Amino acid sequence: MSLATAPRPLRAVLIANRGEIACRVIRTARRLGLRTIAVYSDADARARHVREADEAIRLGPAAAGESYLAIDKVIAAAQRSGADAIHPGYGFLSENAEFVAACDTAGLVFIGPPASAIAAMGDKAAAKARMASAGVPLVPGYHGEAQDDALLREEAGKIGYPVLLKASAGGGGKGMRVVESEREFQAALDGCRRESRAAFGDERMLIEKYLTQPRHVEVQVFCDSQGNGVYLFERDCSVQRRHQKVLEEAPAPHLPEALRREMGEAAVRAAQEIGYVGAGTVEFLLDAAAETTQENGSPFYFMEMNTRLQVEHPVTEMISGEDLVEWQLRVAAGLALPKAQSELKLTGHAIEARLYAEDPDNDFLPATGKLLRFALPLESADLHGRIRLDSGVEAGDTVTMHYDPMLAKLIVHGEDRGQALAEMARALAALDISGVTTNRRFLQRLVTHPDFIAAELNTRFIEHHHDDLFAAPHATDADIARAALVAMEHLANGTPRTDDPWQRSDGWRLNAPRRLRLVFQETDGSGTYEVIATQALTQGPAQGLTQEPAQATWQLQVQREGEVTSRLAVQCQRLDNDTLALTLNGHRQRLFARLDPASEGDAIVLTAAGQESRLIWRRADRADHLPQETEAKLTAPMHGTVVALLVEPGQTVEKGTPLVVVEAMKMEHTLSAPADGAVEAFHVAVGDAVAQGDELLAFTNAGADTKGDS
Ligand code: ADP
Repeated sequence: MSLATAPRPLRAVLIANRGEIACRVIRTARRLGLRTIAVYSDADARARHVREADEAIRLGPAAAGESYLAIDKVIAAAQRSGADAIHPGYGFLSENAEFVAACDTAGLVFIGPPASAIAAMGDKAAAKARMASAGVPLVPGYHGEAQDDALLREEAGKIGYPVLLKASAGGGGKGMRVVESEREFQAALDGCRRESRAAFGDERMLIEKYLTQPRHVEVQVFCDSQGNGVYLFERDCSVQRRHQKVLEEAPAPHLPEALRREMGEAAVRAAQEIGYVGAGTVEFLLDAAAETTQENGSPFYFMEMNTRLQVEHPVTEMISGEDLVEWQLRVAAGLALPKAQSELKLTGHAIEARLYAEDPDNDFLPATGKLLRFALPLESADLHGRIRLDSGVEAGDTVTMHYDPMLAKLIVHGEDRGQALAEMARALAALDISGVTTNRRFLQRLVTHPDFIAAELNTRFIEHHHDDLFAAPHATDADIARAALVAMEHLANGTPRTDDPWQRSDGWRLNAPRRLRLVFQETDGSGTYEVIATQALTQGPAQGLTQEPAQATWQLQVQREGEVTSRLAVQCQRLDNDTLALTLNGHRQRLFARLDPASEGDAIVLTAAGQESRLIWRRADRADHLPQETEAKLTAPMHGTVVALLVEPGQTVEKGTPLVVVEAMKMEHTLSAPADGAVEAFHVAVGDAVAQGDELLAFTNAGADTKGDS
């Protein structure tokens, strides 16, 4: 049945979101014949979701509170455009019961559950009580009304340490602490209450047994308004960083069929208990170590229900062959679920990787800038079957600091997990990105980690494998040679085309082959590599990189700590602004390069054969790249807000002492003392907005004449 003739006819849908999810909803809505209306903030006036929708309406300034979170503006946009329905995507207003009520009042169909179902899951303690009565297994714990200290301590003792204190009203990991022993209990309780009061204006706590090695396994459920409910199998999202999912897969590896059914049925019961309609996800902790046994013997425990479409829904689409946005639209139009449980089949294995504009080697600092290239150049058969790139951006787009830094999701499907992993590795390598730092290299390390390949999963996977995943960067001689070529190209192009040889900085020497010395370092300051580049005599001294790059052959001598480790013959040809064709000892490779200013020099960021490498070029021609011995400036690592000053002006501190906390895109970044020294003054106050590079404080190094205690 067409949506236009359904019980609640749908002809036009407004998507109250941005980025990849807005683009993804537009795709299905258009296929089903709906008119699509995007909304945007000033920062997104030219964003991809605006370009792709049939129509778009401005909401307001960049700040989410004045645009994507402004309920009245979104409702007004829907009314103005003649939309019948609003799809909220995920995040923003998707789980806001007040927004659902506003849609109802305005006569707009909210594509999601009723306000009452969102409210029922909004409070953790109340939700647990409802789930217990529906027979859904809970983590052993306490979620009662009484909240006096002595009683809570007694309950924690009964559960057995370690326990997890959680704010009843909590979310986003706030007001949540692990307590290892009774001795720590009171301090942790006080801390959690404080955080919860500040964040949610509520200090009720619940206590749970803390599982030390759990897996995060969630079940996709769907209900219609006729009382039907099904589950579309599960996803394992154990690979998380600070409770943020990084990799998701379906089905959950090694999950016995009987347990799959048991979890699926428990999830449908959970949804039906609260009168759920639409797409929802019931999140469980699966006790991988099975250290906690529950009376009914289930190794899985209800954690929470997300009353919306999830970021990771595509892995479920790939293994079920269903379009979940189509299901959402049909259910919203008052139609029955397209399939019954017995008609749903699980095929193969799917994995999703979230591609973020951030720098994993720099504490996941969000990155901004213009995307010079962004494409997945694969055969189209791959792109439509086994590999999918759900993206909110295209080459030429600018990544701003205003919203979540997720750029896209890469989703692959294979006949089995091994094949899916191989597809993922291939697709990650093929991604053609430049201009903005991404977590691609980190994702590559994750999907090729032996324990991930062996599916040895738990929510502390990244923490446990920290040393492998954040391996100290280590350049190969080929990496160093490539960086040298990029630096030489840069010098050649940056040189004014003058006939005066004394003004040249590209190594020109009278009556002799050109010769250059370049110095590189790892991004963490370790290693010092030198490259001596000599132009091969066969080319004649008059020719060079500048005039005819295609012709020049250079001999590179790579030295590490003074030892020559390689001699290479290289040729380099510039193909376009950021692309070079490089021939290293006869092996031709295309590489993308860019230069970013960094504190100690220029960072040369290279991508060759899908592998990104980074080196710092210590430029002899730039005084600001020489180390500062006595004074250091501490500058904002990104645009954001100062949330805390951690020391007093004038205070002496040791190297590594946290000094300032800056928040951007919901993430906090702490700046620490670069050396022993003193904070002279702060140039900012708590609450100040700062731009990347703004000086936050004046810092003086202790210097050589300050003697420590002996
Ligand atoms: P929030 O709503 O603040 O995100 P959740 O209750 O969803 O908090 O928990 C967030 C994460 O914390 C989970 O994904 C899981 O990794 C971890 N977690 C939650 N409860 C437990 C528990 N009882 N034992 C171990 N880890 C837990």
